Amino acid sequence: MEHDIERVLVGREAIRARVHELGGAIARDLAGVVGPDDPPLVILPILTGSMIFVADLVRHLPMKLRLELIGVSSYPGKSMESKGVSIRHELPPTLGGRHVLIVDDILDSGHTLDVVSRLVREQRPASVRSCVLLRKPGKSTLPITPDYVGFDIPDAFVVGYGLDYDGYYRNYPDIATLRPEARDA
Ligand code: 5GP
Ligand code: MG
Repeated sequence: MEHDIERVLVGREAIRARVHELGGAIARDLAGVVGPDDPPLVILPILTGSMIFVADLVRHLPMKLRLELIGVSSYPGKSMESKGVSIRHELPPTLGGRHVLIVDDILDSGHTLDVVSRLVREQRPASVRSCVLLRKPGKSTLPITPDYVGFDIPDAFVVGYGLDYDGYYRNYPDIATLRPEARDA
């Protein structure tokens, strides 16, 4: 796996520190939003890419919360550009009246977050926020502004810390680009 990596863009220590900061900011903000009489916060990771990020993030959130899942695919197989958003695992129908935080790995065109936010809002939640670990600035054509962003990165295809190429490299601990030889294998 190491052999396939071209360049590390965000190393594991920087990720660790930033996830800690994001957790602190989210915890502070939501403490003022989710009242004592409100139902607990719902964290909604967009799978599969955000599974490692959300696992680390929720351990910095000290409040009572529930994890619900939605599965979305936009880069099937070896594709390195979006093929349109398809839902692989549906939203739970239980978000009405809840405060919801959508979590995704990376914001590129913004279509994934747009589609998922719309589906969440159809259920009339109490509030909707979003958090992405990575963002490729200037790529989104949609008016999508996540409430929390970990890192802005250059417009390159990246893997690691949950992000895959053809299903692989999700377990690589840094965020990195792939060598060209590893991509067309
Ligand atoms: P968007 O819908 O904003 O164009 O893209 C968001 C989704 O596409 C992300 O949830 C992620 O799954 C995938 N994606 C976008 N850019 C990259 C990338 O550089 N690497 C990988 N592995 N997936 C990406
Ligand atoms: Mg994704």
